[in-house]
Order: sequence, then C-alpha cells, then structure tokens
Amino acid sequence: MSTLVEEATEAYERAVDALPDGEDRPGQRNMVRAVAGAFGKKRHLLVEAGTGTGKSLAYLIPAISSGEKTIVATATKALQAQVTEKDLPRAAKAYEKKVTWELVKGRSNYVCLAKLNELGEILEPELEVIAEWSLDTFSGDVAELESTPPARILSLVTARSEECPGASACSFGEECFAERARIRARSADVIVVNHHLLLADIQMRSWGASLLPEADQVVIDEAHRLEDAAISVFGAEVFAGRFRYVSRLARGLLEESETPDEIDELTGHGFDALPGGRAQPIAGALKNDVNLAMNPLAERLTKLRREMDVIPTEGPAKERRIRLQKTVASLQDDLAHLLAPGEGEVAWIEGSPAGPRLALAPLDVSPNLANGLLNEASVVMTSATLASTGGFERTARTLGVASSETAFDTLDVESPFDFQTNALLYCAVQMPDPRSTGFPAAARDEITRLIEAAGGSAFCLFTSWRAMTDAFESYELDYPVFCQGEAAPERLIEQFVDQSPAVLFGTQTFWQGVDVPGEALRLVVIDKIPFQPPDDPLVKARCRRIDETGGDSFREESLPRASLLLKQGVGRLIRSASDRGVVAVLDKRLAATAYGRSIVSVLPPMRRSKIFEEAAEFLCS
Ligand code: SF4
Repeated sequence: MSTLVEEATEAYERAVDALPDGEDRPGQRNMVRAVAGAFGKKRHLLVEAGTGTGKSLAYLIPAISSGEKTIVATATKALQAQVTEKDLPRAAKAYEKKVTWELVKGRSNYVCLAKLNELGEILEPELEVIAEWSLDTFSGDVAELESTPPARILSLVTARSEECPGASACSFGEECFAERARIRARSADVIVVNHHLLLADIQMRSWGASLLPEADQVVIDEAHRLEDAAISVFGAEVFAGRFRYVSRLARGLLEESETPDEIDELTGHGFDALPGGRAQPIAGALKNDVNLAMNPLAERLTKLRREMDVIPTEGPAKERRIRLQKTVASLQDDLAHLLAPGEGEVAWIEGSPAGPRLALAPLDVSPNLANGLLNEASVVMTSATLASTGGFERTARTLGVASSETAFDTLDVESPFDFQTNALLYCAVQMPDPRSTGFPAAARDEITRLIEAAGGSAFCLFTSWRAMTDAFESYELDYPVFCQGEAAPERLIEQFVDQSPAVLFGTQTFWQGVDVPGEALRLVVIDKIPFQPPDDPLVKARCRRIDETGGDSFREESLPRASLLLKQGVGRLIRSASDRGVVAVLDKRLAATAYGRSIVSVLPPMRRSKIFEEAAEFLCS
C-alpha cells in the first residue's frame, strides 16, 4: 500500500503536468513530501517557504490526497481569494475524485437578514442596493457588493457574533447566509477561513460550543501573523462605541427607561476623563481613574439587564431582546476582565486623545493554541518568515508548537529566486545612530538621493507613524508620492502601480503582505531595525516576564521579533524571478553590531554593500 508521501508526490506530478505553466520546483516538491509526512504521521510541521515556492499548492495537495477534512487558515483576504479561486481549482485537477471546498468568513462578513428586516422601510439608497442584492446573492458575502458601503451602513445590515441570537432563536435562521456557509463547510474537503475565525472557534470550543466542523488537519498560512491575531481574539477591548451601541439598541426596546441616556452621558464623561495618546498600563493612579470612569457604567449595564425583564420574550421584539442581552453580556464580561486582569495578562489604555480605548491581552497565547488546536489536530504552519535569529525556536515556543503533546518537524525551503544576482542589501553605515537627534535630517537626505538614483519606484518603510509623517511632509520629490493613511492600503498600492514610477511612504501595514512585482518597485528603504517600542505595555510586560524567569528578553523576544519583521520588509522587493532592486537599511547597527549581523544572516542571500555608489550603480544597471 502506498504511503501518503508517495500518493501526494504522484498527485503533485499530475498537477504540474496539468498546468499550462506547470513546473516541477524542487522546493515545492520537498514541501509536498514534508506536509504529507506530517499529516501521515499526525505530527506538526513548521515550514518557512521562501517567496516563489508555491506553498499553497504544496500543502493543498497532501491535504486532498489524505482524504481527511482540512482547515486552511490565512491572515489576508488576498490569500483566501488566491487559495479558493486559483490554487484549489489547480490542485483539484490532479484527482479523478471530486474535490470540494468552502470559504467561511466571520459572521459580520455576511448580510444579516434579521437586521435587514428590522430596518422596515428603507430610505437610504445604499441600503436599498443591499436589500435588492440580498434577494439574488448566493453567498450573502458583502465583499461581493459592487462598491463597498460605508462602515455605518454595513453595521446596520451585518451582525457581529455577540449580536446574533443563534440560528435556532432567529426567524431567519434557516435562510441565514452565515449559517448556510457553515452547513456547506461540514461536507467540504477543504475549509478556508481566516486566522480570527479559526481562533474564535478555538475559544468557543473551550466554552463547549463551536463555529467550524471538526478537522484532523489544519494548515495555518501566513503563520507569522497568528500570534497577533491570537492576542486580539484571546484579549479584550472596550471603547466608547460599544456603550453607545448598547444604548442605541436599548432605546429602541425600552422607551420609558432613562438608562440609555445615562449610559450615553457617563460614556462621554468617562472616556473624556481618560488619557489617550501614548499607550500606558492600567496601574497605580491610572487604575483608580479607570475604575472611577468605568464603575458607574458597569452599574448602568447591570441596571439595564434588570430592566430587560419587561421586554416580551416572544413576538416581534424577541430577536432584538436577545441581541441586546448578548451585547450587554459581552460588554460586561470584557469590562470586568479589563478591570481585574488575571495572572499572565496585562491591561492598558491606548488610542487617540479623542478616542481612548481600554485593552487587555494575555502575555502568552501558547497555552490556548496548544490546548485548543495543537493537541487536537496535525497542524502545518507556514510563511515566508517563520525562522528568525535562533531559527524556529521563538515561533515554536510562542505559537504553542513546542509545548503541545505532539512532536513537530521543521523545514526551510529556499526561494527559487536568484537573490545574489538580483538584489543588493545596502546598509548606510555613514548615517548617525538612529536614536540620535541628527538621524531624521540625515535619513531625509539619504532617502532623497536613493530615490533619485532609483528614479522613483520606491517604498519607504518606517518603524513609527510619526517618523513616516515627518519624512513625508518634508519631501519635495519629482514623482507621485503616496502616504499611508491617505486612502485604503489597496487603493494606495493601485495608485502606486498605475502612476509608476512613484514613491510610497508607509509604516507597519506595508511591511508585510504587499505584493508589487515588476518595475514599479525597485527600491525598498527601511529607516530602522524594527524593534518594538520598549515602553509598549504588552512588550514591556512580556520582556519583564522573560527576564524574571531567568531568560534574556533581548535574545528571546526583541531580536527574533525584529528580525522577522525586517525580513518581511525586505521581502517586499523580490516578488518574481525577474524582479531586481535594492533594499536600503538606514540603521547602521545592522552592519556595525553583532546582533545586527545575526539579523542579516536570516535575510535572503542578497549581495551586500555599505557603499552608496554601489547601491546607486546597482539601481542603474
Ligand atoms: S442567525 Fe439571524 S441574526 Fe444571526 S446572522 Fe443569521 S440572520 Fe442574522
């Protein structure tokens, strides 16, 4: 009897033969065999697959060959679309059997028929378009609307999970688009979701419920983003809008009650009294301020719950009553959690001065992932950036792979692209120390001459919003210039490509997941090694915990994280075999310190230079 490794390898060869541009790539073939080996032996696998490996096909083929239900989770909608619209149809060609798959999104991605019905007479044209479309659409996925409605309109016709009474309590439960997608997923071979939905399912299972069908195999693509998604899902956030939404819902059901007005008033006063701006831990005097602002609101939520007893449990108000109950309960839970964080959690205030938000996060998400996912299924985690200084150690530790009951393997698949010939890493060692006052002006001059040498076609990636806006505002360039925040990131990328040669100034959003192949991008400038801000409450608490338990937070946390993010930024440059260009890092610590050189050792194998003229010549050649 042939093994899964052999079956998957044969299917891979058939898939390559069936593709017009099919090409047997050694790295992709290795990955197919490693994923099949992991699934066959019920082990976990961490795969760093360099750009151009074709990793989606390399995990889909073993998944389909195994005959087991597989969940594939991605971070971005772009990759979800690529997997469902391109890679799964290609992989399916290698099989005689029918291969089925289903894309399942979070509830708020689908139009909610109950909320649409509650709107009654529709006066706004955008709502009218959605109401008409809802009669014809198969999926109900609002992403399929021809133009994206404003957030306010979407909030009227979609339901977050905490607003939904559940299909059995909803008069539209049988027709519900979100429910129907989940029912279709039960019989699909491959279910494609995003990280947040997979993590929400893990959380629901710990409470005895579920969102997704059981699966023995899980693939987490773009796994370098899983930790941040887990921090968000297993944490909590409270902001003024959540209270205002409660008062709006309550006002429609409790016409005589004064509580909705009281909640609005206390929300205004309470959040105005809290400091926004720089993130600060909720401790000491600030804890007293937060308690003073939030305790009256917590009391009003309790009062509101008592008042809800008068709302009929049957009839037209039934669903809105359940929605109000669930929304209030969820806010009460999060508020109580924030005001009394548990061991191993940190709470802080962040946001703009006009809109402070209270946030809470676990310092370590590995127990949630190990217990809720890795002890239950064979999991493959993959990305172009999983190995940092220290190899796969940090990824395995922080994502729960190292602490799960199941053994794991690792695989490093090199990119098939010729980085030595096509890419140059230039470190501007003549620059002042990036922490010095002279750095911003020197960086501006260096960026200007690099952009001139490249003739535009440049991404300038900054480690902070402030550095980005300061730099953007001080430039006068002869190229179309775009800056993060001026429009949605996808729109900015479209304009950057359409108006090439252009220059784009960006921060975190543009360090990862942005794909601009070809001549439109020939230069990536990075201002500093992207260490996380040391005074960020979550970063500070995590580092303190590592140091207090005898570890070295710089080696185990700060450096590996920075190296992964720098690797992401560098990865924006070479997106196809014919791409060519320069990555310029203005932080001389990259070449002048031992830890900087350890970061360089995990970057793609580019040519290296510390001389501006060599970088300029490379850009012209
Ligand atoms: S079950 Fe009802 S309330 Fe929930 S999303 Fe579906 S239609 Fe909306």
